[in-house]
Amino acid sequence: MQSVSSNLQAIHQRIEKAARHCHRDRADIQLLAVSKRQPAEAIDAAFAAGQHAFGENYLQEALEKITALPNKPINWHFIGPVQTNKAGLVAQHFDWVHSIHTFKIAQKLSLKRPEHLRPLNICLQINLDNEKTKSGFSLAELVDTIPIIQALPNLLLRGLMALPAPRKDFAAQCESFAPIQKAFMQLRAEYPSCDTLSIGTSADLEAAISMGSTCVRVGTAIFGAREK
Ligand SMILES: *Cc1c(COP(=O)(O)O)cnc(C)c1O
Repeated sequence: MQSVSSNLQAIHQRIEKAARHCHRDRADIQLLAVSKRQPAEAIDAAFAAGQHAFGENYLQEALEKITALPNKPINWHFIGPVQTNKAGLVAQHFDWVHSIHTFKIAQKLSLKRPEHLRPLNICLQINLDNEKTKSGFSLAELVDTIPIIQALPNLLLRGLMALPAPRKDFAAQCESFAPIQKAFMQLRAEYPSCDTLSIGTSADLEAAISMGSTCVRVGTAIFGAREK
């Protein structure tokens, strides 16, 4: 687990360098540690090294870890597909959901968000490459979708998220992020609560930062390979 702490340091250096490279303020870029298929001990090690925001994809697995790590001020972000019949559990146990892909899911999360908690922070997932295996809105759908989601009482719309198909180099990665950067800038100009562009992983965080990412979601570069 010692490597988790040195890996985190290396990722912070990559983020800093990327921010400097495009003249951005490092403080505008959040690191979300993606801990799917990693044990609670790995999260504990990252927490001890100062990492407080964690992203999980699978609800059952996430709930086990949340239960195993009580009394720690961890921000839990749900980044996997939300099933309608599990929306209540997501609304109870998470601070953020990055992967809203239908209005129905957003409506259900708002309905199920417990009264004593602050509004659930949400990002709309964009299927940038129109991949059949991935869910998400198309950018064209946003015009009609944003106003109705924004009006839901127990959610706070924070921005957009995407996980595009892998690209081989920096230029191609930037190109794939360009449409979501443009959509995010328009959104932010219209809705003051929208401050989050959730793009970039272990493989392409430099490109994502140069295209305006405010939240990189990094798994393997922090925790190593995942358990199957
Ligand atoms: C797994 C995952 C990541 C992290 O990917 P790495 O390549 O491990 O950095 C980021 N975002 C989403 C939505 C993921 O499912």
